[in-house]
Amino acid sequence: MPTDTSAHAPGATPRDVLSRVFGHSEFLGLQEEIVDHVTASGDALVLMPTGGGKSICFQVPALCREGMGVVVSPLIALMEDQVAQLVQAGVHAVALTSHLSAVQARDALRAIDRGALDILYVSPERLLGDTLLDRLAAVPIALFAIDEAHCVSQWGHDFRPEYRELSILAERFPSVPRIALTATADEVTRRDIAAQLDLRGARVFVASFNRPNIRYRVRVKDNPRRQLLEFIRSEHDGDAGIVYAMSRKTVEATAAFLEKEGIRALPYHAGLDARTRSAHHERFLMEEGVVMAATIAFGMGIDKPDVRFVAHIDMPKSFEAYYQETGRAGRDGLAADALMLYGLQDLALLRGLMDASTAPDAVRRIEVKKLEALLGYCETARCRRQVMLEYFGETIDPCGNCDTCLEPVELMDRTEEARMILSAIHRCRESFGSRHIVDVVRGASTEKARRFGHDRLNVFGRGGHLEERQWLGIVRQLVALGMIRVDLEHHSVLRLGPTDRVAPVLRGETPVRLRPEAPRAARRRKAASERPTPKTVSSEARGLFDALRAKRLELAQAQDVPAYVVFNDRSLAEMAERRPASKEDFADISGVGASKLERYAETFLAVIREHG
Ligand code: ZN
Repeated sequence: MPTDTSAHAPGATPRDVLSRVFGHSEFLGLQEEIVDHVTASGDALVLMPTGGGKSICFQVPALCREGMGVVVSPLIALMEDQVAQLVQAGVHAVALTSHLSAVQARDALRAIDRGALDILYVSPERLLGDTLLDRLAAVPIALFAIDEAHCVSQWGHDFRPEYRELSILAERFPSVPRIALTATADEVTRRDIAAQLDLRGARVFVASFNRPNIRYRVRVKDNPRRQLLEFIRSEHDGDAGIVYAMSRKTVEATAAFLEKEGIRALPYHAGLDARTRSAHHERFLMEEGVVMAATIAFGMGIDKPDVRFVAHIDMPKSFEAYYQETGRAGRDGLAADALMLYGLQDLALLRGLMDASTAPDAVRRIEVKKLEALLGYCETARCRRQVMLEYFGETIDPCGNCDTCLEPVELMDRTEEARMILSAIHRCRESFGSRHIVDVVRGASTEKARRFGHDRLNVFGRGGHLEERQWLGIVRQLVALGMIRVDLEHHSVLRLGPTDRVAPVLRGETPVRLRPEAPRAARRRKAASERPTPKTVSSEARGLFDALRAKRLELAQAQDVPAYVVFNDRSLAEMAERRPASKEDFADISGVGASKLERYAETFLAVIREHG
């Protein structure tokens, strides 16, 4: 039986639990419908973006129902983070992981047997291993939540075979509601999850995948480190952020470069030993303003709400991966940036992957479609968010918060230029790289051109009206359109794409419309336009906000938890703006539940008073 101090309140209404335990007066979006459905014993498949408030969907029903909630999650970091937050909110929660000492693990098992736990977090391996299921069968269970459920699907980007065996929960606990949640939701993956977890009868909830506070931008890569540095210095000085790169080498070099430039940065990749990795992860969570340069190994389970930017200096490996990775920015709902730099090499790699796939036809078609979608996103002249959400089956109006909305792009007729490039590639016998092809078209009388007689070609010098960088942009876009292939095995020489794509262009039958590549002189950076989402606090509240942050850090360090576990930036911003004077006022701040009110009200009220 739950004690008085427990947040567990079988029979309480979801709204009551939301406000008393979590300090929120309203559910967001679909949360309330989902919570009501699961609290009333319904199964659910929930597709909700990262930062959309997924965990509330199972934490609240678990606390409203009789018995212990069991949350299956693939990652220790993710479990520990949620448990730390629940414990602060007064919930009896434990993550049964290999990080527990033998004594702690034994205590946790005893607590399960006594029915003294509100919520148990566990990995699928642990849940299905030896005797845990038998133990669970002997006590009342409120629900099973299967988080990051895309791990069950081979179409998801983090396939974990052991997730498949979770279908046993349906057999062994037929009367316990199950809720599966994921932030990955293209149609194929969606159907696969329902089938694999035996959730065919479950109600499906699809939240909007729009993350309006994230500003999406894509830039052509010319000098990625300098571009990154400029971006951080001009827009994110002192902010926490993640920089994704493809290789360990790039990650190391990027972290070292940023560090040298005076930006606190750490590397993270699978080549580092586990201790270093977890130390770096820890510092990223605990300290303010750390930039993590990482491969995709730095993945799920980053629940830090105040990551202000995610930058890709190499192209992500799929659209879902991009969505997931950028989704780690701005989880507190405040303004955040997603910047992607990409270039010819990235495109060539992706195209190469498509061509080289040896998967069966049906599988390959899906793979190609997914990669095409990502390419389309990079090269689009439409609202980026529209293109992204269409991929997830949603339709929206142009968003006003992506680069193409803020600086609209007008496609230009580049049919003639495309013909010149294609014919130059053909005339040069598909044996030269992009620089040489562009030299030939522009009529640069290089030694190479003379040696191979390319200065005598018909096409030589016909493209003098555009600068080299404009031509390289045209080449890149033609690669994206599949009209040119880059042979990565042979010094990146350019070859013609399939005849059915190239011939109509060469014959002048198919017009080619491309994004303009601004000549260098016109590439002055534009002033950053007004942000629709407030940056955090008004300038009047800034001083108090910083003082509250300092107090928060002190409290967090004393308890050895990340700062946002005490309060997130949003709660602090609200305190700084509204300046609550009494405990009652303080209870109205979002994120202040009964437990945090008791723990922290006096301390923070004192800071606010001192800052009179
Ligand atoms: Zn837009």
